[in-house]
Amino acid sequence: MDIAPFWGGRKSVLKNFQRMLDKGRLAHAYLFVGEDPTENNRLAGEVARVLQCQDLSAAGVMCRVCSSCRRVAAGRHPDIHYTTPADGGAIKREAIRDILEKARLRPFSSARQVFVVQEADRLTPEAANTLLKTLEEPRPDTFLLLTSTALDRVLPTIRSRCHVVRVAFREGDQVQEGSDTVSLSANRLIPYLRREGVGPDRVPREQEIWQRRDAMLKSFVWAQDVEPFVKKIVTDKEETKVFLILLVSWIRDGWLLKAGGPAACLLHGDRIDDLRRFCEDLSSQKLWKVYEDVVQAYRMSRENFNVKIPIFIIKETLNDG
Ligand SMILES: [Zn+2]
Repeated sequence: MDIAPFWGGRKSVLKNFQRMLDKGRLAHAYLFVGEDPTENNRLAGEVARVLQCQDLSAAGVMCRVCSSCRRVAAGRHPDIHYTTPADGGAIKREAIRDILEKARLRPFSSARQVFVVQEADRLTPEAANTLLKTLEEPRPDTFLLLTSTALDRVLPTIRSRCHVVRVAFREGDQVQEGSDTVSLSANRLIPYLRREGVGPDRVPREQEIWQRRDAMLKSFVWAQDVEPFVKKIVTDKEETKVFLILLVSWIRDGWLLKAGGPAACLLHGDRIDDLRRFCEDLSSQKLWKVYEDVVQAYRMSRENFNVKIPIFIIKETLNDG
């Protein structure tokens, strides 16, 4: 399933990091997931430089003249460390041990140390275990940026300790703040439904998709008694898939909003007040858990399992706040 929280394109990601840095809300580990490995690595490198720049603009653009930026330009910054898989191979424990050694030390010349682990899906289980130590008890001035082209190839133990930043390089770079979010959302949602294997004749048309979404909100998200709705939905396989995809896209938006992401990247930008209300009492962790549960239910429905019980459990988790 390809609807992990989506942060937009390169520019949105850099701007978001600038904002989080400003507000002191930066987490210690991020996993950048995008289709293009070269772009992923380039973006993680840029974020590393943003974290080090001493005179960052509000748009997340580094100044290119401070001593940190000059070090980057010269090709060596003592507090940015890269780990890359050996030629087409794995990232072994030795490479990660090297990181651990450095992560134990104070930054050399700046306020923080940044480690970039390229293609984190190539970590061997031993290397991943070693890296987990750093992820579990990071020094306050240590940041890890991992990249991968496929979220589900990254070991779950690593994935669950990182904030996932899904990047769409081409699509997202065209997103403009203040653009028409409604048509933008339909344009994005419909391809999702197609890609996710909903029968071509069952993908709702643009007007219909909003009706289905509104029905989901009314009869599931805001409803007290969801039983009649769920019972009806699960009798039709394609209907179930559309419901779960709409639900996951809604939760994804809630998560994005909570993470301070730009409104222009919301799929349900027309219901931003409802989204705020929805995620008000839910922590980011809870949202992420529900998100994964919905993805899991979706996978089960694709394999023709009955997902009535998982859907009830999802509702209960949402109610618990
Ligand atoms: Zn700078």
